[in-house]
Amino acid sequence: MKLYSTLTRDKRDFEPAGDAVTIYVCGITTSNSSHVGHALSAVVFDVLHRYLEFRGYTVRRVQNFTDIDDKIIASARDQGLSTEEVAEKYVQEFFRDMDDLNVRRATEHPRATEEIPAILRMIEGLIEQGRAYPATDNSGSVYFRVKSDPEYGKLSGRSVDELLEGVRIDVEPGKEAPADFALWKSSKPGEPSWDSPWGGGRPGWHIECSAMALEYLGETIDIHGGGLDLVFPHHENELTQSESFTGQKPFARFWVHNGLLRLDGAKMSKSLGNLVTVREALESYSADAIRMYILTSHYRSPLIYDQDNIGTQERAARRLRQAASVTSRADSGDSIDPAPFRERFVEAMEDDLNTPQALAVIFDLAHEINRGRDAGHELAGAQAEMRTLADVLGLTLAEPASKGGLSDEDVEARLASRAQARANQDFAAADAIRDELIEAGVVLEDGPGGTIWSRV
Ligand SMILES: [Zn+2]
Repeated sequence: MKLYSTLTRDKRDFEPAGDAVTIYVCGITTSNSSHVGHALSAVVFDVLHRYLEFRGYTVRRVQNFTDIDDKIIASARDQGLSTEEVAEKYVQEFFRDMDDLNVRRATEHPRATEEIPAILRMIEGLIEQGRAYPATDNSGSVYFRVKSDPEYGKLSGRSVDELLEGVRIDVEPGKEAPADFALWKSSKPGEPSWDSPWGGGRPGWHIECSAMALEYLGETIDIHGGGLDLVFPHHENELTQSESFTGQKPFARFWVHNGLLRLDGAKMSKSLGNLVTVREALESYSADAIRMYILTSHYRSPLIYDQDNIGTQERAARRLRQAASVTSRADSGDSIDPAPFRERFVEAMEDDLNTPQALAVIFDLAHEINRGRDAGHELAGAQAEMRTLADVLGLTLAEPASKGGLSDEDVEARLASRAQARANQDFAAADAIRDELIEAGVVLEDGPGGTIWSRV
């Protein structure tokens, strides 16, 4: 399989270094509900995990929760809760959202506040090696000494000077140099605090991922993943800390970054106030439709949040569902050979996870099944293959639970009654049925070819 790595800036053959594929993906900060941008990243790495298993590998995927930081402290104050309560609330919400999106859980989901001893060991080691230092103003913070690593900047591809331009550097009196970043932050009065050799404080964001990757997956991991917005400074800093501490290079053999979700051309972010939460999306669309919308774009491309597009995917998902369950019209004695479809599917996925192409193969197979039905071919083998390939993309092909409690069959039955009522010139009855469907979140479009319906 070929995978693109941000570090080498090219596609390379991927094989795990050991028996299992080890993957570390940066998880959410548990200060707010997850939005569709989080769903994008989660679906991409879920599909990578599923595909590697489909190829016969054992996969160990670790995804952390950043359960202490400034945003969580602020969110706790706003909600009148403790930081633990806020973190727990959004951890549970994340799991519920991801379960409903059919994103499988990682092998481990460690939390920063439960890994303090490992984090402290790493910071102490970095200080002993001269790579880090306690703040020069005795504030109790600890900083990483960026100039101690001549390779710093190799992931994001920029020099330290360039990195400093355009980055807001807080003037922190305890730093030796502006590019140095905090490994340990001394706590202000009233903030959550853990004991350390430098006084009460909490871990910086970057060090937690280095410590957890080392703790759970070892000195070198096969794949480090996350969104493109994490390349700098988060991943650059993780990389320098980890390689400095262990002396082992590389820290990650492949750096895999997904493109970002945009809304009307702007990045979806809390500060811009343009977030669509995963829950909101799931109230309107099935998990299959949301996943298909994400996977029709290559994972490294930016994705525009577009409700019409997801609505189109809802209808496309229905076509796949129907093909997966139709029965043949006759018995021709022939059957469909699904092997060429699997071959093309694998070929697409081997090319840096080309999911748009892989999805197209599943649609071709659905088309073949529909033709086979008309020709009276045996369909079971092709349908089983279609379900297998769809499952690699995390598509259930199951009928979504609809808001109004109407199944697809229910909707079809109502439509037949409505058509009959219209044929009988009983427009009041026809309108009543249409209103009932709208109430249940089903919209109708009457056209020359009949009535098309979709869920909103
Ligand atoms: Zn991270």
